[in-house]
Parts: sequence; structure tokens; C-alpha cells
Amino acid sequence: MRMRRFAATVAVAAAIAGLSGCQTNPVTGRSQLIFVSEDSAIAQSKQAYVQMLQPFAKAGKLDNDPAVTARIVAITERLIPPAIAYRPETKDWEWSVKVIDDPKTVNAWCMAGGKMAFYTGLIVALKPTDDEIAQVMGHEIAHALSKHQAEKMSQAMATQGAALGASIFLGSKYGAAAGVATMAAAQVAITLPNSRAAETEADRIGIELAARAGYDPRAAVTLWQKMGKATGSAGKGDFFSTHPAPERRQERLAELVPQMLPFFEDPRPRPVFKLRTQPLAARPVSDPARVADAR
Ligand SMILES: [Zn+2]
Repeated sequence: MRMRRFAATVAVAAAIAGLSGCQTNPVTGRSQLIFVSEDSAIAQSKQAYVQMLQPFAKAGKLDNDPAVTARIVAITERLIPPAIAYRPETKDWEWSVKVIDDPKTVNAWCMAGGKMAFYTGLIVALKPTDDEIAQVMGHEIAHALSKHQAEKMSQAMATQGAALGASIFLGSKYGAAAGVATMAAAQVAITLPNSRAAETEADRIGIELAARAGYDPRAAVTLWQKMGKATGSAGKGDFFSTHPAPERRQERLAELVPQMLPFFEDPRPRPVFKLRTQPLAARPVSDPARVADAR
């Protein structure tokens, strides 16, 4: 019995160690500790996306205002081509955006693999211009391009993996513990706060994506001003709980504006990536790269 517990602990430690690695951010060159592969993060995010949005769909709260949906989709469709220009392999991502009718939640996110959500609370609280919405979505897409979800899933797995090892040592059933470790990783990835380094990275890449898509970079500064004023009274889903403001955020963005203006003022037409409107459907996840199965 003692041997079996020991063997299981070693197997888990080996699984985590075997996947571990320091990677360099493909866009900014920042070094990241990532042992959940991006492919695995994308596969798990597809499942988490459906799980998170299904309750809103059932309640008739998903894409239920055609004008708002059309506005968010149109902005997103212009942001995707510069994102693909940054990382060409993302042309194969299943890009998608859904508008959640939740006027109390000031939030938006983009999961690994390009699956996005925008909460109507952002419109209620900020009364944003299209340029400002583009800054929000550009920032979210930048997190996905920079593999920040895989980074956060790695952190979650590391924490839970340690708990898992301890629980095995103390005699818990392996299956139950493994379930806890993997179950929430993809959802955790978008609910855990980003590091301030990740925020700076997303700000820097996001403002450029938006400028290249034809959105005014000065809106990045006004967006964060509005966000700062609004979220004090916005209630749950506070954007800053997952996007902590890095030091001097507005000043740093303002400093970037002059470099971004040429992209914004480029007179050439902006390409559009047409998003297919598809119903929310759960599909079986068959990804051999998954660390373990939750069931
Ligand atoms: Zn962020």
C-alpha cells in the first residue's frame, strides 16, 4: 500500500515535471513558466466556453440584442486580422465572440484559442465608443496571443498539483484528487488575476492590434480612465479583479500613442475576419495532450 501511494506520487510529480518548461513569449520576448501546452489550454477552453455560456443561453441572455451583438462582432472582426498577423498560426483558431446580457458585470475575456465574451455591463457602466470597445477586446485578444491562459492554468495546476501530491500521501483516492486538479483549470484561467507583467504585455499588444484595426489609440487612455471611475460602483465581475492595473497604466499607454498613430491613420482599408455565427454546442474533447481526465 505504501509503495502504491509512493508510485502514484512519483507519477504525478513526473507528469508535472515532464510537462514543465520555460517559454519565451512569442510577441514580447518575456520569459514565462508554462507547463500546460497551448494546445491543451485551447482544448480545455472549448469545453469551458460552452460550460460558462450555456446558462446565459438557456436564460435567453446570449446575443439577445441584435444591435449590440452586431456592434461587438463588427469590432472583433476587424481586430482578428492584426492578431493573425502577429501569430499566423492563430488563423486556425476557432475565433468566436458572444455578448452576455449581464448589465451588472463589467468584464470581457478571450480564452486560449480565441473564444471571447463581452458583458453588457461594460456598455452600461462606461458608455464606451467603438474605439474604446476595440481597446478592451484588443487587450483581451492580446492575453490569448501571449498564452496568458496557459500560464495561469500552469499556476493553478502547480498549486493544485501540490495539494494533490499531499492528498495522495495522506491516503486520498487518486481519482478524486486528480479530478479536483484538472476540473477547473480552464475556467480558473480566465477568473484568476493576471500578473502585472501580463497586464503590461496585454496593454502594449492590445493598443497596437486596435490601431492596426483602425481604432484610435488615444481611446486606450480614456478607456482606463472610465474604467477606473466606473468599477468602484460596478459590483461583481470587476474588471480589475482579473486585470490588476499595472503601475502607471494610463501614462504608459499615453506614451505609446505617438507610435500607434501611424497604424491608426493608415488610409488603406482594414481587412475583416468574418466570424461564423454558430450555435453554442458542446463537443467532445479528445485531446491527448490533456494532463488528466477530470472524470
Ligand atoms: Zn488584462
